[in-house]
Amino acid sequence: MKAEIIATGTELLLGQITNTNARFLSEKLAEKGIDVYWHTVVGDNPSRVEEALRTALSRADLILTSGGLGPTMDDLTKETLAEVLGLPLELHTGWQQQMEKMFSRPGHKMTSNNLKQAMVPKGGKLIPNNFGTAPGIWLEHQGKIIVLMPGPPRELEPMFLEEVLPNLPETDSILLSRVLKITGMGEAAMEDSIADIIANQTNPTIAPLAKLNEVHLRLTAKGKNKEECLRLLDELDQKLQARLGNNIFARDDETMVDVVAELLFAQKLTVAVAESCTGGLLAHTFTNIPGSSDYFHLGLVTYSNQTKISQLNISADLLAAEGAVSEAVAKAMAVQVKQIAQTDFGIGITGIAGPGGGSPEKPVGLVYIALAAPDQVSCRKFNFLGKRENIKERAVISALNLLRLYLLKQSG
Ligand code: ATP
Ligand code: MG
Repeated sequence: MKAEIIATGTELLLGQITNTNARFLSEKLAEKGIDVYWHTVVGDNPSRVEEALRTALSRADLILTSGGLGPTMDDLTKETLAEVLGLPLELHTGWQQQMEKMFSRPGHKMTSNNLKQAMVPKGGKLIPNNFGTAPGIWLEHQGKIIVLMPGPPRELEPMFLEEVLPNLPETDSILLSRVLKITGMGEAAMEDSIADIIANQTNPTIAPLAKLNEVHLRLTAKGKNKEECLRLLDELDQKLQARLGNNIFARDDETMVDVVAELLFAQKLTVAVAESCTGGLLAHTFTNIPGSSDYFHLGLVTYSNQTKISQLNISADLLAAEGAVSEAVAKAMAVQVKQIAQTDFGIGITGIAGPGGGSPEKPVGLVYIALAAPDQVSCRKFNFLGKRENIKERAVISALNLLRLYLLKQSG
């Protein structure tokens, strides 16, 4: 079954809004195993909407449209479709009454052009809209299915999920994806280590994608049903896990901090952080998790030498001898904040976020991240690339990753 999505709206062509409806519909159709071959965008212009509909009817079996179902003059999808198919528009009295009820509330007035929304091309079925006045239309015509839906995503999305998707014909296969998130190795190194797996892999397919701080592998399985797809995904997942090990830190929507928080919750452990160049971003990230007060006890942003001395009791001599951006100072920050907060872990971050402040020995992007654990103090030196904001984000992810790796090692 070949599908085409037609989004109408001049504001899409002008670049004022993004065609999120096409993205949403494509994703859901792919999951159901329906092949979307075309995305069309057309302005609110009768002859061009007509042309788009005629073209779609000539090549697709399933046509989904978004937009142009409102009460105003420029809303013309339904009228144009009726004309193209040579179908008269008939008044749907049920929806007319429904609209009269909606407009009977104080402050609402139904005008005659609202009635246009209760018109249905002959033979079409009206799809109720629980979030607006424009109903959708389901029409089967000469072996093709044509579905018209309103433009606003908050109306289109529930309508599609509840009223359209379940009624689309079954296909003999569906697609299911899983994303593996990898850190601690670059895209090239990661691909290199699994090159043989990628080369021989057809189902599921593997698509690598480099992100700011991580590499994603999207695995997409094609199977008869969800169970079969899950089995295929699990098999490949295990193969990749065996190769990439703890470099895989999360799957699908899970983030680095979700994983770390989960480990801390499970082991009832606590953490405090002393930050310099990340300016509190690590504390912010830790506290994005509901219930984080169970494990997150203190965040200090000691941005100057003065406050490193006064708040963290770091010796002025050490700062003078090593410089604020050094392994020794990062370790001292981690140890001191752990001591002050009486937590199981302390993290210290000090570095040069740029764009200024770098030198040949200590370039922009140099960041030391120390972890004071119950049994040891360790530190890693990083040279991050990117803008100031990227360097801060990379430092935070790396700090979380150090803690994650330690916790995983502890739990065996
Ligand atoms: P209305 O009854 O609100 O007029 P409609 O079915 O006539 O609905 P449009 O007038 O085409 O739809 O679009 C209404 C609004 O919906 C747009 O201003 C825009 O905010 C949003 N919208 C329309 N099309 C899309 C799209 N393809 N992707 C995302 N948002 C969209
Ligand atoms: Mg409109």
